[in-house]
Amino acid sequence: MNYISTRDTSVKVTASQAITKGISSEGGLFVPDTIPCVTAEEIEALSKKDYIGRAKDILSLFLNDFTEEEVESCVKGAYETGFSDEKIAPLAKTGDGAYVLELFKGPTCAFKDMALQILPRLLKVAGGKAAKGTEIVILVATSGDTGKAALEGFKDVEHTRILVFYPSDGVSPMQKLQMCTQEGKNVSVCAIKGNFDDAQSGVKKIFTDKAVAAKLAENGMAFSSANSINWGRLAPQIVYYFSAYCDLVAEGEIKVGDKINVVVPTGNFGNILAAYYAKEMGLPVAKLICASNSNSVLTEFLTTGIYDRNRKFFTTISPSMDILISSNLERFLYALAGSENVKSWMASLASEGKYKVDDATLAKIKELFAAGCCDDEQTKATIARMFNEKNYLCDTHTAVAIKVYEDYKAKTGDKTPTVIASTASPFKFSASVLEAVDGINDGLDEFEMVEKLAEISKESCPEQLANLRSKAVRFEGVCSKDSMEKVVLDMLGI
Ligand SMILES: *Cc1c(COP(=O)(O)O)cnc(C)c1O
Repeated sequence: MNYISTRDTSVKVTASQAITKGISSEGGLFVPDTIPCVTAEEIEALSKKDYIGRAKDILSLFLNDFTEEEVESCVKGAYETGFSDEKIAPLAKTGDGAYVLELFKGPTCAFKDMALQILPRLLKVAGGKAAKGTEIVILVATSGDTGKAALEGFKDVEHTRILVFYPSDGVSPMQKLQMCTQEGKNVSVCAIKGNFDDAQSGVKKIFTDKAVAAKLAENGMAFSSANSINWGRLAPQIVYYFSAYCDLVAEGEIKVGDKINVVVPTGNFGNILAAYYAKEMGLPVAKLICASNSNSVLTEFLTTGIYDRNRKFFTTISPSMDILISSNLERFLYALAGSENVKSWMASLASEGKYKVDDATLAKIKELFAAGCCDDEQTKATIARMFNEKNYLCDTHTAVAIKVYEDYKAKTGDKTPTVIASTASPFKFSASVLEAVDGINDGLDEFEMVEKLAEISKESCPEQLANLRSKAVRFEGVCSKDSMEKVVLDMLGI
């Protein structure tokens, strides 16, 4: 297997090169040129293994130029310690055939840890093969969770530097605190005046700027990406869909071969794309259900075939999904329609903010996906209902997924067992969660809210969030969209 670019299939690279480069030089994303298959017997065998064993087997299929020992050491390094649940990604049964896949047991309490605990390790091995002697500079645009998870993953990793940009008014107070208090010698954080799309476009522009690349090369440095445009972020996300299925088999909830649905609260389309790849590899998935908040660009696209980012941008209580340009959709479009179509649709997105896929592509999309969205009021009502009726406390992003799933089920009557991806700890979004379950949150600071939430829910706040209270703020810088490049070069001292 090799990796090719979604915009130029003559670009052929190894897994190591795809991971080190992050994005192809003409702006396309790397995808495997063939999708490996996993048989029913192999799923049966995986169900008898633990998360580490499952991760090793699945990742080996994609990391074609890594040795078995290298894959194993990356996987063990990432998942052996640092997760607060021994299952790494446990399932909570909430009844009526629904299972919540808790992906937030890692060091930063969001699902981004699932990939960002292993990405630095993959990059270290890959960099040793593909870019020996180079200092890797990681640039991150974050809607809140990626930034912290990447900082935590890369802090003090040799031969790497990391700089995170976040929208100054687009993250929760807890997310901001998590980033601005980050420790480590090779880390830096800067707020930008703008939204997540501005941060992401700015980072992409710096990445593909030839003059900046040349300047880095002169200084023995090269950019890479920790955003989900990097294949090294996506591959580890495929693992937990297999793992969830295997847990359902191991616990006797389903038999190998039975189909499940998967619901994912979606922003950049990375997490749900990983579920799509799992399905293409042979995991028995019936429907992929894409859940959005009021920024419902994907709901519209997956149901009409029209992608139109020319719309009002909403700042919601599920900020990690406040996105109008979902980068990873490009990989999905490539799989359905090939690189010539991708090129023309992406060109039209860049020039007009809009494109429309052909009918044949739309028909394929509709067969694979269902989609829905909900607003902040519905999100809060769902948090309250889950807590009051099922004694299950979920965060705002997970609540969007639950609500969209309930709507889907009411509309279709589909009773297929369903895995709902839960992407963050409720304690990360305590203001909204507390308001939902308790009515008010007035006058309390972030930590008082966390304490009150713990008291009401009888769950304890993850230590790594509670401990932020005593940490010093290290990063307070704010820049405009147009000065991001200067901030990067200043930080690197070149
Ligand atoms: C990043 C994130 C999402 C969106 O995931 P994508 O892969 O970007 O679609 C959803 N919820 C939370 C809490 C996140 O951090």
